[in-house]
Amino acid sequence: MSYIWWIMKSLKTEVKIILAALAFFIFLPAVSVVVVAASGIQIVGDALVSLNPVTKLVEIFDTNGNKVADVSVTTNWPTRGYISDEFGTLDPVRQEMGLGRHTGIDIANRNGLIGEPITPFMVGTVIRVDHIDDDACGINVKLKHDHNITSTYCHLSQAVNITLNTPVKPGDAIGYMGSTGASTGSHLHFQINVYDIPVNPRIFMVGEPEASSVTIPTF
Ligand SMILES: [Zn+2]
Repeated sequence: MSYIWWIMKSLKTEVKIILAALAFFIFLPAVSVVVVAASGIQIVGDALVSLNPVTKLVEIFDTNGNKVADVSVTTNWPTRGYISDEFGTLDPVRQEMGLGRHTGIDIANRNGLIGEPITPFMVGTVIRVDHIDDDACGINVKLKHDHNITSTYCHLSQAVNITLNTPVKPGDAIGYMGSTGASTGSHLHFQINVYDIPVNPRIFMVGEPEASSVTIPTF
């Protein structure tokens, strides 16, 4: 031990810092590395968007950490139902399908029914209407909002016939709940991305989808 100390003492400061950093990585338990890797998506997302506890506004940051916008929270849940899976969970079924952490929130119908209308959580424009059930998201609609925010609505039974760049707002039906794509029952996968990175939709949402304030047209 005294020999190591003697080496450390005789080294230049920069070299000591490098050695200390190396030792840190060598002795860091493998388990904590796994935890860091698994929570990476959450850490990145939290750096881009967070709720200010004082102003109660959602603050959007750019990738340099500068705040670019304040967005109001909303009770405009995109559909009725209960939350069957939160953002960031690591489910064995999803892992078997070759999918990683949950990138959105799942809202399911209590009775497993198909056809509950889906509506935008905030004003935006339509940037994708995929009527073909050929990937994990199934039949889906994607919207673009201000401040580099997008939202995606997956597993629809049906997407409405709507042309790209059409403006939409909460209350408009953009599709109907279903179970297309990688899905085991009727539910909506509701995903919000900021700068294309999935973030926890709960940051934007208040309350629960059972009590959505939006009057959604009935099917
Ligand atoms: Zn999902």
